Amino acid sequence: MKHVEFFEELNKEDVAIAGGKGANLGELTQAGIPVPPGFVITSRTYQQFIKETGIFDDIMDILDATDVNNNPELQKASKDIKKIINGTEIPDDIKILIIEAYNALCHRIGKENALVAVRSSATAEDLPEASFAGQQETYLNVQGEDDLINYVRKCWASLFEARAIFYREENNFEHSKVYIAVVVQEMVEAEKAGVMFTVHPSTGEEKILIEAAWGLGEAVVSGTVTPDTIWVDKANGQVLDYQVSEKNIMFQKDPDTGRTVKIPVPDDLKNKKVLNTEEIAQLTELGKRIHEHYDFPQDTEWAIESGNVFMVQSRPVTTLDKMAGEAKAGDGSVERVIITKGLGASPGITSGKVKIIKNTDELDKIQKGDILTTVMTTPDMVPAMKRANGIITDEGGVTCHAAIISRELGIPCVVGTGDATKILKENSVVSLDGNKGLIYEGRIEKEAPKKEEATAVPTVVQQSILTVTEVKVNVSMPEAAKKASETGADGVGLLRTEHMMLTTGIHPKKFIVEGKEDELIKILVENILKVADAFYPKPVWYRTLDAPTDEFKSLKGGEDEPYEHNPMLGWRGIRRELDEPEILKTEFKAIKKLHNEGYNNIGIMLPLVQHSDELKKAKEIAREVGLEPQKDIEFGIMVETPAAAMIIEDFIEEGLDFVSFGTNDLTQYTLAIDRNNENVADLYTEKHPAIFKLIERVINECNKAGVKTSICGQAGSMPSIVEKLVELGITSISANTDAVATVREVVARVEKKLLLKAARKIIQE
Ligand code: PEP
Ligand code: MG
Repeated sequence: MKHVEFFEELNKEDVAIAGGKGANLGELTQAGIPVPPGFVITSRTYQQFIKETGIFDDIMDILDATDVNNNPELQKASKDIKKIINGTEIPDDIKILIIEAYNALCHRIGKENALVAVRSSATAEDLPEASFAGQQETYLNVQGEDDLINYVRKCWASLFEARAIFYREENNFEHSKVYIAVVVQEMVEAEKAGVMFTVHPSTGEEKILIEAAWGLGEAVVSGTVTPDTIWVDKANGQVLDYQVSEKNIMFQKDPDTGRTVKIPVPDDLKNKKVLNTEEIAQLTELGKRIHEHYDFPQDTEWAIESGNVFMVQSRPVTTLDKMAGEAKAGDGSVERVIITKGLGASPGITSGKVKIIKNTDELDKIQKGDILTTVMTTPDMVPAMKRANGIITDEGGVTCHAAIISRELGIPCVVGTGDATKILKENSVVSLDGNKGLIYEGRIEKEAPKKEEATAVPTVVQQSILTVTEVKVNVSMPEAAKKASETGADGVGLLRTEHMMLTTGIHPKKFIVEGKEDELIKILVENILKVADAFYPKPVWYRTLDAPTDEFKSLKGGEDEPYEHNPMLGWRGIRRELDEPEILKTEFKAIKKLHNEGYNNIGIMLPLVQHSDELKKAKEIAREVGLEPQKDIEFGIMVETPAAAMIIEDFIEEGLDFVSFGTNDLTQYTLAIDRNNENVADLYTEKHPAIFKLIERVINECNKAGVKTSICGQAGSMPSIVEKLVELGITSISANTDAVATVREVVARVEKKLLLKAARKIIQE
């Protein structure tokens, strides 16, 4: 294996030495596709560097001593290793080879000190680079020998980014067997760039999808801008649809420093089409050629400089529905055999060993990276869920415990399979697709594009999108508050209490009966504080305990919970809290304590109300602890019963600051479909017109009365529903952490559409 290979010498079989990126750039070059010239510093060079300099053992020692589940430890290990690599001189013999190749490249393109892009291209011995996609760095506009050497070393160091270390541990890859190649390529100073799929990326239809934005391609690849979207009919080259987006940001070379900078798009280009007909035709042609060459659908990146189109990356599309069982040998993807199906409850694709949990004594079986498979998760399982790569359940719908917690933890989850615990074999390796609800045999390498509830562009720039309709986030586990706040959400539209109570392992009533109310207050204060603090001064709506009897029975002191045939229609929510006011009072005392400490950002939200008397009584109990509703503290209800929606005027008359649609329950009660019953899960849909009718009347009445409206059910994470709610004039949307970015974009787009419509109407008049 050579230390350096020019693209002309590489092909797609060279993944082990050049990484996926390098190997495919070689393949494209050899196929006569326009690729900016360049070379690959092979994985051998990296291996020689870490061995020859003696740092290999130091790195392994640090990794051996690190618990990757302890985030501060992981971050420190990453920092220390990167420091070692970046602080180690590259031996002269290696340096010379890199510099010679650079000079040869400069000579070839006729530029002294040519600007190059330096891209990491990681690979394991026998795995395609796709497994490590997005984990290592790319550096643009690198110039001169010293800079090049410096950035090559940075690419090597990026093999030890914290997320990359964690990923390898999670997926049981040996650190010592994962290598990194580096692509060095003439820089294309793109005026426009983007990505292109040579088929519809999720259905496999014969359509080309192009996404395009101004400046360098990083803006599109990193999700910093919403690009223009163009669909082209592959058969006749006809443009089927051109969606122009507002493109606010672009990446470009700074003429003074030579560095890549992020700048605002000039006003006249923001809403202008990026691609003209000629460019779309050229890209389509290239897309078809590349697809034909590989004899397989490709996911590519392109750039246009001075009217010339270049391809800068190509890899197989491994995410097609229709490809189940059709994958071809040698393309890096695996044959997919579907073992069972359920409901996609938390997005993402993952693989791991099946561990079937029949009862909580078996939770120790779950090791990092396993697939926790059980009839239905319980709160005791949360620590094990955190270790798991994915969750599969027999029972449940998309708003069940497993679904809610997985989404918050960011773990792919499929619920309601009916039979997973019976047909999956203990210790067999499976993959699960949390978007489509499918369980496959064996390991799948690549993340699928996410659908309705996906996180599209969770970036800092995305967070700066301003919307009039607030976009908030739901929190069920206080320990996930920080991650939730990093979405930049405008507050917490639902802070669930159940997890806080259930993790004590003791029934809340037991604390009170045994005279330990203070202990319970302390637990609540500590938990609520984590959230109120992470979001301060943004509002956090604390939802009072909504304890279903079946879930609380397993707690110590829960033996007396009544047995109910249908707990969903039973003793839960505010009706139960008014029967047991001491628990509600304890919750209010905890909030009062925080309020006294200056946390005036906490509001109170009552679950499952069906009559305005319930609101009245709860307000009285709040007053008893010294909290004056609507004065000291925001006070509101969830609209989860059709009853509450039908008589919302009564609640308004009683007095409240806000309502929030709990569509998980509103759907089950409107459609008479138990949300946790997989037998009727196919009928469960928040898009039923009856639900919209209820929502619409509540929004109208509340808007008239100046009462805020929000949504915190799962429907608030679904773009098509969010669109309608914004059109109806909802005040805020509260989504799952993983959906905040997408929801924010949807809200911004709808608001603009509405403004445009209004403006047009005025002009016409
Ligand atoms: C709802 O019912 O929509 C809701 C958000 O509450 P939960 O899912 O906790 O019942
Ligand atoms: Mg509910």
